[in-house]
Amino acid sequence: MLHFLSDLHLSPDAPGITRLFLDYLAGEARSAERIFILGDLFEAWPGDDALDDPEDDFARAVADRLRALADSGTGVAVQHGNRDFLLGDRFAERSGATLLPDPYVLSLPAWQFVLSHGDALCTDDADYQAFRAQVRAPAWRAAFLARPLAERQAAAAAMRLRSEASKREKTAQAMDLNAAATDDFLRRHGYATLIHGHTHRPAEHDHLVDGIHVERWVLADWREERGEYLAWDGHRFARHALLPVAAPRLPAGAR
Ligand code: MN
Repeated sequence: MLHFLSDLHLSPDAPGITRLFLDYLAGEARSAERIFILGDLFEAWPGDDALDDPEDDFARAVADRLRALADSGTGVAVQHGNRDFLLGDRFAERSGATLLPDPYVLSLPAWQFVLSHGDALCTDDADYQAFRAQVRAPAWRAAFLARPLAERQAAAAAMRLRSEASKREKTAQAMDLNAAATDDFLRRHGYATLIHGHTHRPAEHDHLVDGIHVERWVLADWREERGEYLAWDGHRFARHALLPVAAPRLPAGAR
């Protein structure tokens, strides 16, 4: 079984999501051969030295639980999202995860998939594409990572606020994948089944590209009260909800 998930946006400010994810890592993920986290595992990632922050063990705790899963025999693969695009080699080493390029073609004997966070295909959002090009440039990354951790944490928080504010001004169209860019992407990737996240609009789409039927599966974002992964059993997909464990109910009259 392969699992695909994305857009957890883990942060110390969302303890419910963290709980769901850690329970998943210790539970259902163990029965998967591999899990693929397709971006935005973290709400923000200021750099891999977040793992050394004496003030905050959140990053270490998550990396170590991923490592426990990897050590149990489940492969862990992670793609960058638009929030955690600075995840690097030290994170990969500590967590036991493999960092995948975006897009990544996953060829299985029975089927071909192409995995992506999805933000690169939101080409109607020119401001965002300019930002994306900037932060992915090696020179920008090197200069940013040379700044002190506290300064980068503040910059990441400011970026987040700006992105939330600009999201409110943008049309629904600009926040979704561009149809022509998506068709072209599917064509260039041999009409493989596309799995992506980013838009927070879980759905199954059917594309007809050059007369060929192509599937596109959009992963769900995680909420405090609900997580989700998409499972591939070698033949078909199924979505699995992850819900908080209910507090034990007291028998009537026992209070
Ligand atoms: Mn995203």
